[in-house]
Amino acid sequence: MVDTLGNTKKFVGLGLTALRSNVSRLDKPYKLNFATTYWCQSRCLTCNIWQMKPKNELRIDEINEFAKKNDHFRWIGITGGEPFMRSDVVDIADAFMKSSKDLYLVTIPTNSLSDQKMVISKIEKMLQLGIPKLSITLSLDGSRELHDRIRGVPGNFDRVMGVARTLREMQRQYSNLFFIFGYTMSRYNHGALGHTCRSVMHEVPGTKYSDFHINLSHNSSIYYNNIGMEIAADRMINSAELEGFLNKREREMSVIQLIETVFLKNLINYANTGKPPVKSRSLDASLFMDSFGNVYPSIQWDRKIGNIRDTAYDLAPIWNGTQAEQARRIISEGNDPGSWTACEAYQSIVGHLPSFASLLS
Ligand code: SF4
Repeated sequence: MVDTLGNTKKFVGLGLTALRSNVSRLDKPYKLNFATTYWCQSRCLTCNIWQMKPKNELRIDEINEFAKKNDHFRWIGITGGEPFMRSDVVDIADAFMKSSKDLYLVTIPTNSLSDQKMVISKIEKMLQLGIPKLSITLSLDGSRELHDRIRGVPGNFDRVMGVARTLREMQRQYSNLFFIFGYTMSRYNHGALGHTCRSVMHEVPGTKYSDFHINLSHNSSIYYNNIGMEIAADRMINSAELEGFLNKREREMSVIQLIETVFLKNLINYANTGKPPVKSRSLDASLFMDSFGNVYPSIQWDRKIGNIRDTAYDLAPIWNGTQAEQARRIISEGNDPGSWTACEAYQSIVGHLPSFASLLS
C-alpha cells in the first residue's frame, strides 16, 4: 500500500534540505550519484564505457555496508554502464531503501538492451520496495535508424519502445513509477530532436514533449571514458533545436517540471558558452561514486577525493577530509570544470534560490 503521508513527508524533507543548502553548508550530502557498474552492452559512438570490461567492482556486501554507514541520502542516482547488467540491482536499491529512512527518489537509466522481461521484473520488484518515486530514464538518441546507428546495436530503438509501452501500462498499477526518455545531443544527431520526439509519440501513445529530458554530450575520463573524442554538436544547431523544443514543451505545474524548465532554459546558454549559470553544489549537496568505490565531486571532474574501501565504507572521513576541502575551495572560486547535466544541475538550481527568477527568465 502506498504510504501517501510518509511519502509527502519525504518529498518535503528533500525540498527543505535542498533549500537549506542556500543558507549553510550541509554536513552530509543528500544526493548520491552512484555508477554501480561500468559493464555495458551498447556500442555508443559518444561514450567508451562499453570498452572497459571492469574488474573488482563493489560487491553487494560492500554496498550494503556503505548504505548502512551512510544513511542520510534522500536521492540516489543509480547509474552505469548499464545498471540492469548487475544481477543484484534490486538488492542495491533495497540496501539504500532500508538504510536511508528519508530516501524519496531513486533514478535509473537503461539502454533497454538487457532481456526485457528481466528488466521489467526487476523494476517491479523495486517498485514493491516502497520507494516513493522510482524514475526510469530510457536512453534514446534518435528515431529508429539513427538511434540504432549511434548506439551501435540494430533493433535498439524498437527495444526502447517495447520497454516504454510496458512501463506506460505499469503506471496504471504503480503510482510511484515515472519514466522519461533521455536524449543526448551530439554531433551524430544534429537536428534530429523534433523528429525523434514525433517518432516516439507515434510509437508510444500518450507521450508528450515533457517526457523528454535533454542532455548535451560530455567528455569525462572517470565516467564516459571518452576524453579526446570529438562528440560535441555544433553550438548554433544545439541552441536552435533546444529553443524549438522548449517552445513545444507542455507547461505543467509541478516542482519537478518547473526545475526542468529552468534546466532547459539554461542549457541553451550552456550550449553556447560552455559555462554553467551558477556554481556547482557538488561536495555540498552531492557526490559521485564509481563502481570501484572511488569518490569524486561530480561525474565530470576527475579529482578523486577518496575511496570507501579505505575508510571501512564510511563516507565521513572522505567528506570531511583535506581533499574534499581543497575541491570545495576550487568550486567556490568557480574554477572547477563546471557542467550542466541532470546529475548536477538540479541541486545547483535549488541551491541558488536567490537566482531562481533570473535562471527562469
Ligand atoms: S552512453 Fe550509456 S549505453 Fe552508451 S556505452 Fe555509455 S554507458 Fe553504455
